[in-house]
Amino acid sequence: MTELKFDGRAFINGERVAARDEKTFSCISPVDGRVLTDVARCGVADIDSAVASARAAFDDRRWRGKSPAERKRAMIKFADLLLAHGDELAMMETLDMGKPVKYSRSVDVNSAANCLRWYGEAIDKIYDEIAPTPSTGLALITREPVGVVGVIVPWNYPMIMAAWKIAPALSSGNSVVLKPSEKSPLTALRLAELALAAGIPAGVFNVVPGFGPEAGSPLASHMDVDCIAFTGSTPVGKKIHVMAGQSNLKRAWTELGGKSPNIVFADCPNLDRAVEAAVGSIFFNQGESCNAPSRLLVEESIRDEFMSRALALIPQYQPGNPLDKETVMGAIVDKVQLENVLRYIELGKKEGARLVAGGEQALRETGGCYVQPTIFDGVTGGMAIAREEIFGPVLSVMTFTDAAEAVQQANDTVYGLQAAVWTRDINKAHGVARALRAGTVHVNQYDEDDITVPFGGFKQSGVGRDKSLHAFDKYTETKTTWIRIDSPV
Ligand code: NAD
Repeated sequence: MTELKFDGRAFINGERVAARDEKTFSCISPVDGRVLTDVARCGVADIDSAVASARAAFDDRRWRGKSPAERKRAMIKFADLLLAHGDELAMMETLDMGKPVKYSRSVDVNSAANCLRWYGEAIDKIYDEIAPTPSTGLALITREPVGVVGVIVPWNYPMIMAAWKIAPALSSGNSVVLKPSEKSPLTALRLAELALAAGIPAGVFNVVPGFGPEAGSPLASHMDVDCIAFTGSTPVGKKIHVMAGQSNLKRAWTELGGKSPNIVFADCPNLDRAVEAAVGSIFFNQGESCNAPSRLLVEESIRDEFMSRALALIPQYQPGNPLDKETVMGAIVDKVQLENVLRYIELGKKEGARLVAGGEQALRETGGCYVQPTIFDGVTGGMAIAREEIFGPVLSVMTFTDAAEAVQQANDTVYGLQAAVWTRDINKAHGVARALRAGTVHVNQYDEDDITVPFGGFKQSGVGRDKSLHAFDKYTETKTTWIRIDSPV
């Protein structure tokens, strides 16, 4: 394999540039604590420059002026280049944020490329509308790109989270300024180079690494940004809406946190599958998934059987070196998040939950950030580990005795991202699915996922939806053009 090169400079107007004040920060690998490279610590001046470049590209129509078929071709090329550089991107992602390399290649690279391709392919197949008005007029309802789109993303799936936003935004003709997380900036910068190589003109896609308050906030508050698309925590998401409202009322879309309930009834059709999904989904990506089923609600009568099968799976999920192809659970993204997860584990113990698996930091000798797969049984609704998003490999197990109690517990949260129900009773499945306040409800599985379906949450899990054709709504304005018809016949 060729040697991996890291370039932490920003990408503005088609070029790599240092931050204006030349400030940098160290990009540290959670795999073993080594410094990977220095990264541009962008601030207000860099955001201004990136937004100006995006605005100029939008105004002179160098991208939005292309036909949808031309944009499609560039987006598909962009996707192809991602795949062609798949090994490099996967290794970079793993070193930067700690996920097992087998998943960064098979999940993150493939899924991000698929997303770019899917929106590219869609864009020349979507028609506008003519309204059913009286015959004295013709009303055309058309879609236009919203303009300059600011994108702010987290670190848990850096390429995928970016792709979910830049793919529909770019395909529909917008210019983009992307701020990746300071914890995982490297692949986003590489994506910008690949986009340029694919034929997306300079200035259309800019990437400005840096910290939230220094780079994210000026982007969300910018008077010349038309839309801000954010994925991250609920507290920061709330600030994004305030910044959007207090600046130019830019469109604000937020994909936020979750504390997703996974309800297993005693008549679950396949208990082994339910156990595997419950355990596998909370430990996948080290538990750093917004939609992880972090609250397991098991019907009291099968609790003991369920728990003994779940505990039997724990050895499979011990953390290991993310660069080892066999590893299924890698490193927590950084020391701050590691401390956060360990703090919640201590809180769970203090609050009286029963620690039945894990609970300790692991692989300390590596210098990296690892936590054992952890399960708390006997969790009750008032405990912090039942209410707050931990964003680590920690499962909270509760029990219920009937469907009403299960739904009450499941909905007893400020979040509403996903939920699941396991039962062989079709009435119970539909009834409970309808009663759950969540953007996605899974029935008898947890891991189905496809670019064709919307992703997003009810309540404080955010505003708007990523993925599917619905995502185009976020990046386009609807225009009505009335034409008077004085018919001679
Ligand atoms: P975070 O909110 O701390 O940071 C997200 C991004 O916002 C980062 O780029 C960060 O630099 C930036 N930011 C931080 N403060 C800011 C500010 N004041 N102004 C502007 N930008 C700011 O979240 P995180 O720790 O990076 O990611 C984890 C969170 O993301 C979890 O809550 C998780 O559930 C959520 N998430 C949600 C989804 C979804 O689709 N709903 C997907 C992935 C992650």
